[in-house]
Parts: sequence; C-alpha cells; structure tokens
Amino acid sequence: MRLFEAIVDANHRAVAGDTSAGLHPADFAAALPVIALTCIDPRLNALFPSALGLPGEQFIWLRNAGNIITSPVSSTMRSLALACAVKGGEEIAIIGHTDCHVCQTTTTVLLDQLKALGVERSRLPENVNDFFGMFGSERQNIIKACGFARSSPLIGPKIPVHGLLIDVGTGKLDWVVNGYDTLPVNTVTPPPKTQFASLGDLGSFKDFEMGEMKFPDMKIGDAALPEAPAPPVVVSPPPPPPVATLPPKKHPGKIAVPPPIKPRPTFSSRRN
Ligand SMILES: [Zn+2]
Repeated sequence: MRLFEAIVDANHRAVAGDTSAGLHPADFAAALPVIALTCIDPRLNALFPSALGLPGEQFIWLRNAGNIITSPVSSTMRSLALACAVKGGEEIAIIGHTDCHVCQTTTTVLLDQLKALGVERSRLPENVNDFFGMFGSERQNIIKACGFARSSPLIGPKIPVHGLLIDVGTGKLDWVVNGYDTLPVNTVTPPPKTQFASLGDLGSFKDFEMGEMKFPDMKIGDAALPEAPAPPVVVSPPPPPPVATLPPKKHPGKIAVPPPIKPRPTFSSRRN
C-alpha cells in the first residue's frame, strides 16, 4: 500500500471508530514530506494534519480560497514547485472540502459582496468568474486543479498529484484523483509493510473527544474519478543524480494516528 492509500485506509477506519487505526511515517519515508493544497476555510485548521495521520513536520501546507489552481504556471503552481524543489516535498495532494463557501457563492453574489466592501465592478477584470476561479462543484474543481498540476512544466513526472475531498463534519477523506495512476510506470516502488499503532501513542490529540465523532450517512465513496487532462506516460531511464543534493530528511520513529474527529463544537458555526 502506498502512502496516500494507507492514509485513506487509516482515515476511514478511524472515522468508523477503530481506535487502533494509524500510520507509521517511517514506513513511508521516501514519500515524505507531503504537500497539501487546501481551502482557507478555518474549519480545516483543526483537521490538518491529523486527518492524514502525519506529524506536522512532514506536512507542507499551502492554502488559497477554494483550493483553486487557475493554470499550470499560476502563482499557486509556483509555490507547489518550490515546495518540491526547496522543501523536498515528495507527493502533492489537492484537498477540497465539503460545504465550501467559495463553491456556493455565485458571481452575482460575489459582485454584491465585493461592492459592499467598496470594490467597484468597473475596476475588476471583465470575466470575474475566470479571474477568481469560481466553481460550482468541489469535485470538479479538484479534478481541474489536479489536471493543471499534473500537466504543469513545473512539477516533475515522478511527483504524484492526488485529489481528495474532506468532510468538514467528520474529517473523512474521499479519493477524487488517485495520483499514483498517472505516474511513469517505472517510478513506483512499493513501500515496506504498513504498521499501525494505537491512539494511546499520540499525546497531541488528547484534546479531541472520541464521543463527538460524527459518522457520515452517505455511502463511502471509494472510486477515484479519472483525471481530466493527463500528460502522456513517460517511460524512460531515470535521470542522472543531481549535482547538489538536499540535506538528508529526518523522519520520526513515533507513530502518528489520524483521529479525523470533529473538535470541540465551541468553534463550529456551521454544520452539514
Ligand atoms: Zn472552502
């Protein structure tokens, strides 16, 4: 099982109430750290990186309103590229969320709200929808973003680009795009056997209340949708080793467990 497959598996088991569900980061050292692009929604603050079961130092977090990528060379793509090149990110995950207000806001409403803030329509680009990257389907938005990232000249072919959707009520992760499917065939190396540990090993999650866990009513979606504009699969010999190398990564031996559990409801203003 590869890193994000293990993450989703452990996440689903934790959401279902399995208190032994977890992830052993040392088993996936070659796939860490990961880079996640998420929305700015503050409800996500308490969900990451615990919903992935990763320690904070293995989680590079990029955020923008709506987790939108507008082109293969957009500002967000430049940050993703630097996160790989400068911070050693090994896998990219674009993680949308349920109940996204960017998704729910129409162009008319957006213009009204901007006007209320003193932003005049005449000073905005003609196609406001395209400019802000507004979207009507969170899943389609994730697929589109994964397509741009996968085809970006800034991202190497060996970096998996995944798309996931997280439920802000439960912390449950669902696949939208499985980035391993579009990797060159000779670059996927099976990791060592996954090990799981108990919740008792994780001191930093003591603030979470198991009793407050909510279970989704819908059927668990397990099918990864096809990615939109996939680049051609490249089968070629591995490139020569780089002249300069990044300092060796340190991976904690301690086991992190994803408790995709809704935090204390004090901070929650909206529910699904
Ligand atoms: Zn959002």
